Amino acid sequence: MQENTSGKIELYGMTEAEMRQAFSALGYPAFRGSQVFKHLYEESQGLQKGSVFTDMTDLPKKMREDLIADERIDVRLPEVLERQVAKDGTCKYLFGLADGEAIEAVFMKYEYGNSLCVSSQVGCRMGCRFCASTRRGLVRNLTAAEMVGQVLAAERDRGESVGHIVIMGIGEPFDNYENVGRFLDVLHEPKGKNMSYRNMTVSTCGLVEKIRMFGEDHPTVNLAISLHAPSDALRRKTMPVANRYSVA
Ligand code: SF4
Repeated sequence: MQENTSGKIELYGMTEAEMRQAFSALGYPAFRGSQVFKHLYEESQGLQKGSVFTDMTDLPKKMREDLIADERIDVRLPEVLERQVAKDGTCKYLFGLADGEAIEAVFMKYEYGNSLCVSSQVGCRMGCRFCASTRRGLVRNLTAAEMVGQVLAAERDRGESVGHIVIMGIGEPFDNYENVGRFLDVLHEPKGKNMSYRNMTVSTCGLVEKIRMFGEDHPTVNLAISLHAPSDALRRKTMPVANRYSVA
């Protein structure tokens, strides 16, 4: 079961199969987990109306009331703290998380559809000299639910669907390998966002063992490598990771 650091069960961080298991563990028939999963990704779900469970009218009333009252269950989305909208429709978000930390995401409009640049960590320990995200070092990894939450919060704020994601915001995705993989799998769920793996891109500064592992685990997800310099010698001046791995 996906639990965050405060021990809450994060429903947005689960695949449908995991949601079924979670609802069984909570004492409900497994199929209720599938119903809730489907509802969580429906465009009409508006968290502002109160609990996300309120409109799930195919669940028994008592179950809805119990889910709303159950403090173990977390269905919060990141809060929009700030947004900057450009003329071309690009929207940069500062999202607030439950523990008071903040992360950034960027909504971009393209001819092929909308894309969101997602953060994977609070801070980063990779130490690239040109990057503000690394000044505090790594504060913590984001959970899969907090990454899914960026997508859904941006969609609800823009009133438009996100069809592509790039994990190129704050953090090194392969330093948070397990949660990033889970995030991609949750987005791919047919009854959820149903996003093709080919519409997802993971960007790394170049953690080679993880690149190889990722090729095995998610062979159809796109990979981007941030070089930032035309030679290893120059790269080593600004990116500590270049001391461990040459471009070759
Ligand atoms: S890996 Fe990315 S987020 Fe981390 S310090 Fe380098 S550029 Fe910044």
